[in-house]
Amino acid sequence: MGYTYRPMPRHYWIDTSGCQMNERDSETIAGICEALGMSPCEDPADAVVAILNTCAVREKPQERVYSRLGELRKLGGKGEGPIIVVAGCVAQIAAEELRRRGADIVVGPRCYDMLQAALENLTRGCTLTEDPARPVEEGLPVCRSTDLTAFVNIIYGCDNYCAYCVVPYARGREQSRKPEDVLAEVRGVVKRGCRDVTLLGQNVNSYGNDLTEPVDFTELLRRVDAIEGLDRLRFTTSHPKDMTSELIEAMAELPSACEHLHLPLQAGSDAVLEAMGRGYTCEHFRSLIGGAREAMPGLSVTTDVMVGFPSETEEDFEQTMRAFERIRFDQAFMFKYNDRPGTRAARMEPKVPEDEKQRRLEKLVKLQNETAREINVALEGEVFEVLVEEADPKSAGHVRGRTRGHKLMIFPGPEALIGEMVKVRAVKGFLWGWMGER
Ligand code: SAH
Ligand code: SF4
Repeated sequence: MGYTYRPMPRHYWIDTSGCQMNERDSETIAGICEALGMSPCEDPADAVVAILNTCAVREKPQERVYSRLGELRKLGGKGEGPIIVVAGCVAQIAAEELRRRGADIVVGPRCYDMLQAALENLTRGCTLTEDPARPVEEGLPVCRSTDLTAFVNIIYGCDNYCAYCVVPYARGREQSRKPEDVLAEVRGVVKRGCRDVTLLGQNVNSYGNDLTEPVDFTELLRRVDAIEGLDRLRFTTSHPKDMTSELIEAMAELPSACEHLHLPLQAGSDAVLEAMGRGYTCEHFRSLIGGAREAMPGLSVTTDVMVGFPSETEEDFEQTMRAFERIRFDQAFMFKYNDRPGTRAARMEPKVPEDEKQRRLEKLVKLQNETAREINVALEGEVFEVLVEEADPKSAGHVRGRTRGHKLMIFPGPEALIGEMVKVRAVKGFLWGWMGER
């Protein structure tokens, strides 16, 4: 308990796992540290404050938090070494365990406004987690990791309670940001040179349900698109049960809206989708994708899927395979189902054995990798607009960036191109994108 007195600060170190929301939250945490006069460092041993921003969606990353915490503890005895902060979803759902294992400050995703005071005093020993309906504060400092692209939250939390998912417990109730706050943040990043904005929410289609002003997600998209100087607008994640044809029309019509749709399928079997509580059928999902592809030729479609949900039969899994064969996703994030504490699915039986989940995952990954490569090879010779983001870390004299479809393009070029939109011809397709030339 109590305080450790030291001359005020030097470095902070931050490690981020999980989704884009955590990446955006880490920019807030970094902003808070910088407002206190700290600067970032690469090695936690040099830090006054070491922060782990954590993900609880699956078990493995959560276990990794405990081992990283143990390593950080070794950097100092009690009251020595960096102040260890654990933030993010694990902080919210396992605060006591983290404190027991030596975290100095545990702070949940809705409580970053309280972090500043705790860090100012270099407090060792506090838990900043609150009830899941606590409103998220506006106006916290932010230190962005890049000026070219930006994540902007539009809705916090999730009210969907899919049977397998811990997010509603970790991130709390849905809370839409006011449209003017979203617009102000987008204007701010565009002014600083940002050209590609991604609007974030667990279910962006719920945007506005809790606002007094009648602004839904489609209307918000229109207002953001109207901001001068914004070249590219994306969003994630859309929920298939709430995706509307108005949204697809708006995407097709708005100049900045990218030809990229991330729509999580989760499973190809209607019985499994029903048990997951997802609220749509595979057929409905396919019709959504069909409509979107018709409205936006060249649309790139990405998804999330899991195998081995409780009671998933071989036939259920084969339906996921068939859905992948028919839909042909550009990219997919594929997971083995994992029991999460407190969720409905954790209590569902029968469980699919681990080796069976592994077999199904490998089979699906193989199919998806082949599909992605085929799609990209078929597009060889086409010219794409690329926002050049950085020097390619693997090949000297090359730079890389993303297309409007969010595919990676690596091509020979000087670093002076970073920040530019350039036309690049896809020369050779791979599963991740293309090697190209100007
Ligand atoms: N809000 C988003 C994503 C939330 S979590 C959505 O609705 O899609 C990101 C992905 O992790 C999910 O899409 C799902 O595929 C995966 N996931 C979530 N809980 C999981 C669990 N218990 N086991 C395995 N994968 C899980
Ligand atoms: Fe989890 Fe479902 Fe909410 Fe996505 S929509 S965060 S999968 S509960």
